[in-house]
Parts: sequence; structure tokens; C-alpha cells
Amino acid sequence: MTRFDTLAVHAGRDDLTALGVHALPIDLSTTNPLPSIGLGGDSYESMATGGRPTDGGLVYQRLWNPTVARFEEGLATLERTESAVAFSTGMAALSGALLAAVAEHGSGRHVVAVRPVYGGTDHLLASGTLGVETTFCAAGEVAGAIRPDTVLVVLETPANPTLELVDIKAVTTAAGDVPVLVDNTFATPVLQNPAALGAALVLHSATKYLGGHGDAMGGIVACDERWAQALRRVRAVTGGLLHPMGAYLLHRGLATLPLRMRAQQEAAGKVAGWLSDQCGVGEVYFPGLPECDPQQIVGRQMRGPGAMVAFSIEGGYAAAARFTEAVTLFTHAVSLGGVDSLVQHPAALTHRPVANEAKPHDDVLRLSIGLEDPEDLCADLARAFAAAR
Ligand code: PLP
Repeated sequence: MTRFDTLAVHAGRDDLTALGVHALPIDLSTTNPLPSIGLGGDSYESMATGGRPTDGGLVYQRLWNPTVARFEEGLATLERTESAVAFSTGMAALSGALLAAVAEHGSGRHVVAVRPVYGGTDHLLASGTLGVETTFCAAGEVAGAIRPDTVLVVLETPANPTLELVDIKAVTTAAGDVPVLVDNTFATPVLQNPAALGAALVLHSATKYLGGHGDAMGGIVACDERWAQALRRVRAVTGGLLHPMGAYLLHRGLATLPLRMRAQQEAAGKVAGWLSDQCGVGEVYFPGLPECDPQQIVGRQMRGPGAMVAFSIEGGYAAAARFTEAVTLFTHAVSLGGVDSLVQHPAALTHRPVANEAKPHDDVLRLSIGLEDPEDLCADLARAFAAAR
């Protein structure tokens, strides 16, 4: 079997030699010449109902785009799923998955979500914006929260922002026939493959590690072909498709994903260890620390702890504010997963819309560790701690 690092470089590129090109082409056409009304109409019908283009061609970019399809094939290969369907952002991908789950169920609109999750996810589910009703619960409470009208179970592991870990297999078993969506943004397929543990849908904010350079937004759901058809049907009518330029950048990112992930993870381990020894730090949240992984998920479910770190700072909000203003190498900014390091305050920003009982505490800061030398990162953090005191 071809190994992961090789697949990351080559997946989704099978047609390039026949096309006579070596780098990924960017197909920008919004519309495509039709061979005849009959054939064009047949292809339209196939794609609008979730299938692939037929002899009638690609018809219209909202239905199919070759650059996007190559990225989808690349990510599906890495997640070891039959298919994948890409969207304009991670939130568009989540919206597509919720709408597809409602359509597949037929009569239900109830979702079970394991908290914590990304603030945007929490807000979308809690607000009922898409007409779903959500029961939030802990991982061990999923079986009891499921009802006959439950269309989907949603979980995130490691979870944004405090890196709680969920045993995916335990949840998919507890969910029984109800499909489980796992947000795999933090782990990436380098470290974890939720589909192999029973997840029907594996979601990524591709904006983060998949692209890896902070210059392209996207979302993608890896799944079997039946779910892919349901997702493509939703995407065709709601229109949240990924732009081919974004698909090109995200696909290019896959080639270096394993290298970036391993290097960033190693640096994160050093930063987390350093933080644990600092006065002025309360808790350190990093899946590589034994106290953060009581179920020993790392090694069993994950092939490593990842590159996200969070910690609580003594002095609460005021100290956190001074800290984020004092960093010079870290950028004070939301988002994560890029080659450069970021720091942000989840309660005020990424998790701002979350209900108070589930909101991260005011003294928590989240770090996304990049590819810089960890000694330089720790020196920057040391300066910021001095300023925060
Ligand atoms: N899932 C997780 C874990 C995230 O951190 C984010 C964004 O921060 C999203 C989903 C949403 O992705 P996007 O910002 O690409 O819409």
C-alpha cells in the first residue's frame, strides 16, 4: 500500500500526465460549451442530483469544477474515504452537512453535539439558523441524547480551543445508526482518520492546516459516495462552492501537510513543555501532556498530539490583553494551522457567540504553533509574560 507521505504529494493528480501538465491546472470557466441540448441536459441532471458529469460535459461551475474535484480526490485519499465534497469555507461545509443530514433522514431536524466545539459551529447549532434543534452534551451522554428525529451527531477532537479529546469509536458506537460528523480540522488526516472509526462525515476547515499558509478559505467533507451525492445536491442548490483558485492552493497545501504537521507538532510539544514550567501560567492544554489525555487517545486514536496549545494566564482578562499586545513574533490574530504562529483570546473572539455556560474562561489564550524555531517562540512568549505581569 502506498504510504501517506507519498499519497499527500500525488493524490488527485492522476489526470495531469494525460493533460500534458505537471503542476495542477486552475480551471476558471464558469460555463462550458455543450455538445447538444440532450447530452448537456443529461449531464446537468446527473450533477444536480448529486452525481458526476456525463458525456454532456461540465455545464456550469456550480455543478462541477475539475480543479475542485482534484482537491476533493486528494483529501478523500488522505482520509481513506470514497469521496469528498468541497465548499467555500468550513462553515459552508458544516451547513451543507447539516442540510444533507436533514434531507437523508426525511422527517427529523434534531442534532446532538458534543461540547466544546468551535464557536462558529456552536453558534450555528445553538441559534437554529438552519432550522435544526440541538442538544449539547458530553461525549459520554450521546446515547441518552439521541431521539428518533436525530439526524446527526457532531463532535470535534481535539476540540477548539482547549484541546479536549473525544474517543471517536465510543461515540460512533453509542450513536448506533445515527450518522456521526467529526470535525478533524485540528488533527488533520496526518494524525487521525475518523472514518476508520465509524464517522460517516469527516469535516475540515481547509482554511487551516490543509492549506497551511493562511491565504485560502475552504471547507471539505470526506465521506462515502452516497453521502457525497447528498452533499453535492445541497451544494448545487445552495451554491456554497469552493472557488478553483482556492482549490488549487488547498490542493497544493496537501503535498507538504505531513511535513508541516510533524514539524509544527514537535515545536508545539516544546512550547507546551516550556509553558508548563512558567510562573504566571495556570493550566496548560496540550494533548501531549498526560494530564490532558486521561483516556490515552494519543497513540491509540491519534498518531500525535497536534500543534495547537492553550493555557490560562494568571491575572485573567487584563493580563491576557497585555500579553497579546506584547508579542512580536506571534501574530495576535484568529485562525490557525498556518506556517506562522498565532495567539488569540477565544472568549472574546472565536468563541464569543457561545453561551456563557460553555464559553472558554476569560484567562485562556490559544496558540497555533507554526514552523518558527521553538526557542524564538518561547523567547517571544517570555517577553509577553513579562509585559503581562
Ligand atoms: N471547525 C473548526 C475546528 C474551526 O476552528 C473553524 C474555524 O476556525 C471552522 C470549523 C470553520 O471554518 P471556516 O472558518 O473555514 O469557515
